[in-house]
Amino acid sequence: MNIIELCKYRETCAICGKQMKLSMHDNLFTFAANIADACLTIRGATLARNLSKEIQFVFKPDGTYTHNKQANLRFFTVYVNCIECTTGQFSKNDNIIFHLKDSSIKTLNKKLCAYSIELSLNKDGSFVSEISYETIKFHDNDFFYHINVDRHNEKSYIYSGRLNGKSTDIFSLDVDHVINMRNLHSIEMVKKKIGIYNLFS
Ligand SMILES: [Zn+2]
Repeated sequence: MNIIELCKYRETCAICGKQMKLSMHDNLFTFAANIADACLTIRGATLARNLSKEIQFVFKPDGTYTHNKQANLRFFTVYVNCIECTTGQFSKNDNIIFHLKDSSIKTLNKKLCAYSIELSLNKDGSFVSEISYETIKFHDNDFFYHINVDRHNEKSYIYSGRLNGKSTDIFSLDVDHVINMRNLHSIEMVKKKIGIYNLFS
């Protein structure tokens, strides 16, 4: 998949059905990611700087990039998530990768539909991009349902159970492959997917 296809890999939230948005989080820079003219544009400035002196990178579908000034940036992570379901959950100090990768007691009552795209820039003007992590975390009043996918290690992790149950009530399964999340368009489909793994585990 080229960079634009990666950005549109999931277009709507599996939880609420709303449009997914691009976002970036970094402690040192203020970044914004947008798709314009069939390219991914990342614009940013260090927090100390005036935004008019900003850095701009343009990533093209053919795997090449341009930037407006010499900037020693070789790696970006772009997040695609549903703003509606994750409002207030990502702050500057939040470890978003953790929210994407893992489940813990603290994440049981979170809702999150998100994935991350990693871009590695080469000096010759080319770049490599791939989806690194993907998650759907959902809960209702009684139960939680999580699927986390780690594409680096080609593993997936499933957790479900009662929100206020004992830890022994939690169904937890490590899977040695990447679960196809792209075709999960609703929470009913997520529950069904988890149910199938539960049945055969
Ligand atoms: Zn949503």
